[in-house]
Amino acid sequence: MTPDLMEAGAQRVAKLQGIDLGSNTESGGREAGYGRIGTPGEVDITHGRILYLEDLSVSFDGFKAINKLSLDIAPGELRCIIGPNGAGKTTMMDIITGKTRPDSGTVYFGSTIDLLRHREADIAQLGIGRKFQKPTVFEQLTVFENLELALKTHKGVKSSMFFKLDSRQSDRLAEILETIHLSASVSRMAGNLSHGQKQWLEIGMLLMQDPKLLLLDEPVAGMTDEETARTAELFLTLKGHHSLMVVEHDMSFIRTISEIVTVLCDGSVLAQGTLDEVQADERVIEVYLGR
Ligand code: ADP
Ligand code: MG
Repeated sequence: MTPDLMEAGAQRVAKLQGIDLGSNTESGGREAGYGRIGTPGEVDITHGRILYLEDLSVSFDGFKAINKLSLDIAPGELRCIIGPNGAGKTTMMDIITGKTRPDSGTVYFGSTIDLLRHREADIAQLGIGRKFQKPTVFEQLTVFENLELALKTHKGVKSSMFFKLDSRQSDRLAEILETIHLSASVSRMAGNLSHGQKQWLEIGMLLMQDPKLLLLDEPVAGMTDEETARTAELFLTLKGHHSLMVVEHDMSFIRTISEIVTVLCDGSVLAQGTLDEVQADERVIEVYLGR
């Protein structure tokens, strides 16, 4: 593997994970308020919340994609988010991760970190990992190299050639390989993995950064039934150690993993409760059948 490839890889990981290694396209308005970058261990959860959204709104050309949205997530919780297409699920994740700036409202990570005062790159460093819909692993690198690269990128190691995993990091990598069921595939090229395995590898890449909160957008889309079942197992393993926000359309998957389900519609919370409760809610039935 050439240094150039590694550098290109680092740039690509950075781009995909929303880590800004170079230019910043965000408007200058937030610059004044940028907070100091903390470490993930500093998140204050004494008030019982890892994530807190209040009265959040954002419009795109006059269309309210997020409309007075309030929601909070407890530490170690696995929260499922459902809702029809266009409900604002992805936009909500864009706001949490600093990709989209809301027009109004509050977004707190723990009780002290105001995420609206942080840039996208800082938010990843603070301990919020995001998985986009399509798998975004480096096909030309092995499983091991992908995981190693995720750590380097997170640490901001630009000259990857001189980076070596210490023993704690090696142990962590081995542990994550186990968790994502890829120990036997450590030397395989990521490009040769199945779709499901690529998704797990990408989750492993996020785990290398030891995020407090993981945002997962439609993680089982395109997976076989068996892969979906293994992903459910994986998420249940992660719960408790990490907080998870999972957006999915696959209701049998949601049934397997969910405690509280939040239904988003027209940019705000329509209903919340167990899957059975929200599925019995007339308003929820209406939005699913009526569209
Ligand atoms: P979901 O993920 O629930 O399907 P999205 O958050 O992707 O919904 O989209 C919510 C609404 O906001 C949609 O109508 C979408 O077209 C619109 N939207 C999302 N992002 C943008 C954007 N950057 N510019 C304009 N409209 C957008
Ligand atoms: Mg979406």
